[in-house]
Amino acid sequence: MSANQLIDTYRHQGLRRKLTEQLRNKGIKDETVLKAINHVPRHYFFDSSFLEFAYEDKAFPIGSGQTISQPYTVAFQSELLQVKAGMRILEIGTGSGYQACILAELGAKVYTIERQKLLYEKTKLTLPRMNFRIRTFYGDGYKGLPAHAPFDRIIITAAAPLIPDALLAQLKIGGIMVIPVGDDSQVMYRLTRISDTEVTSEQHGNFRFVPMLADRAKDV
Ligand code: SAH
Repeated sequence: MSANQLIDTYRHQGLRRKLTEQLRNKGIKDETVLKAINHVPRHYFFDSSFLEFAYEDKAFPIGSGQTISQPYTVAFQSELLQVKAGMRILEIGTGSGYQACILAELGAKVYTIERQKLLYEKTKLTLPRMNFRIRTFYGDGYKGLPAHAPFDRIIITAAAPLIPDALLAQLKIGGIMVIPVGDDSQVMYRLTRISDTEVTSEQHGNFRFVPMLADRAKDV
């Protein structure tokens, strides 16, 4: 990323306001989420040759065969999470780091795991330069971060074939997990832990994510 890319012009700010209004029209209601989308410069997460795509409501390739999620999806998952300032949130699938920054903008303390080394190394360098303090980890998200558990919120930003037990075990009582489950297309689940043994679940529509993979050694 070149240094001049970390400049947020009036033009970028205008495009971002339009994107935020688009998300409001598509049904996002949480004003704190809309405000965060309006604040975080999404073009910082793009390579300079693709800047014109940064404020379209679309997913976009970020290298290593991965994508930055569509803004609507980021807003939708963030809204389902019901984030409050000071919460400890675990994200699986750092990717570009954009979703993590939206959660940080909401006042959360964010821990995020990425299994692709190149993406992990990139966000570890670039997020601090954007003035976001995100705790980035390289590893297998299926295992979560037992050393930092339990979490108030857990968000999975890749398609999970099932709900990983190890992640549910790292959710506090009263905590919420948002996870897209399925193979070709995914159903968005919101799970709430109500006791040590009970979890309630709701379904929130269909989405498409890149797959959550277990064996990281293959594509490092
Ligand atoms: N949250 C990202 C979008 C992520 S795309 C953003 O805002 O840009 C999904 C990401 O999940 C990819 O980067 C992929 O490499 C990662 N991923 C897939 N399986 C994983 C696993 N088991 N553990 C951690 N990350 C994983």
